[in-house]
Amino acid sequence: MKVHNFNAGPAILPQEVVQEAAKAVLDFNNSGMGILEISHRSKDFMAVMDEAQALVKELCGLGDEYKVLFLQGGASTQFMMIPYNLLPQEGTAAYLDTGVWANKALKEAKNFGTVNVVASSKDSNYSFIPKDYTVPADAAYFHITTNNTIYGTQLQTLPKSPTLYVADMSSDFLSRRHDFSQFDLIYAGAQKNVGPAGATIVIVKESILGKMSRVIPTMLDYRTHVKDGSMFNTPPVFSTYVCMLTLRWIKKHGLANIEKMNLDKATLLYNEIDRNPLFKGTTAVEDRSWMNVNFVMNDASMEEDFKKFAKERNLIGIAGHRSVGGFRASLYNALPIESVQALVSAMQDFEKSKA
Ligand SMILES: *Cc1c(COP(=O)(O)O)cnc(C)c1O
Repeated sequence: MKVHNFNAGPAILPQEVVQEAAKAVLDFNNSGMGILEISHRSKDFMAVMDEAQALVKELCGLGDEYKVLFLQGGASTQFMMIPYNLLPQEGTAAYLDTGVWANKALKEAKNFGTVNVVASSKDSNYSFIPKDYTVPADAAYFHITTNNTIYGTQLQTLPKSPTLYVADMSSDFLSRRHDFSQFDLIYAGAQKNVGPAGATIVIVKESILGKMSRVIPTMLDYRTHVKDGSMFNTPPVFSTYVCMLTLRWIKKHGLANIEKMNLDKATLLYNEIDRNPLFKGTTAVEDRSWMNVNFVMNDASMEEDFKKFAKERNLIGIAGHRSVGGFRASLYNALPIESVQALVSAMQDFEKSKA
């Protein structure tokens, strides 16, 4: 391992995936051409797309009523595509406002219909997940963000929805088990936990589409991509390929094991944050994210020192998001527990150096 990569996204990928992808860049399936140079309509790539879609369904335990798409435009384009396709102009969509991404999503929805923010922790700088609210059954859909990448909170139990259920899982997709079948639409930018930047995974129940009376531009209509199996236009070929390799890797380990590894890593780091008198967490304990661990120092003037200390030990990407400061260590699927141990040791050695 070159460094300990705690980047929030794009982020660390399994090393065996990176190695296989590197080989495919030079020569894909002994075709004499690299994966970057082949047609998306070639047999070889069609097989990649088919396998990637099938793996998502298999890992989520979903049947054929769901379609899996690999789209471009990032999760941010989904903020707009969802209301375009699911929110009638005279309708209301319910949003749980748990972070900057959730807030960006609901702002977009306001361009298409009415938005009911069922609860928000914005006034507390999104340091907790609101739990006491009701979702109106006549809402067009209910939108949640399962993991709040910037603040380090996560919905440890998913609320129930009395209406169509939509989830932004960008930063914890396939990091733990869920009953994925309670959702009607799930989306995730690949670059946090399941691949490189460039692909956005959308899982949609086909039966919810086609109910709008408005005109939807072709590229923004989910039906276009469902109908053509995510091949209406050129899909993100390389990114989809690396996602497919990562999905194989997740399947090899099993989602239950991945979940256990992620919980072990997060527990190790939170235990040290709680034990070490120099550090403290920034979020409500019961809402702590297993993916993005935010913390600060009790004496903020030491933070620059610790940043340098960590950098000398090859601990990369632990600065907090510019909107919150402090530290954020992202512990996505591919991050080995040895990297978390290295961060914990650095925190302990820093404590000793100040004693
Ligand atoms: C990163 C992130 C996004 C934005 O993703 P892009 O692919 O950059 O548009 C949206 N939601 C969540 C939860 C994220 O972590």
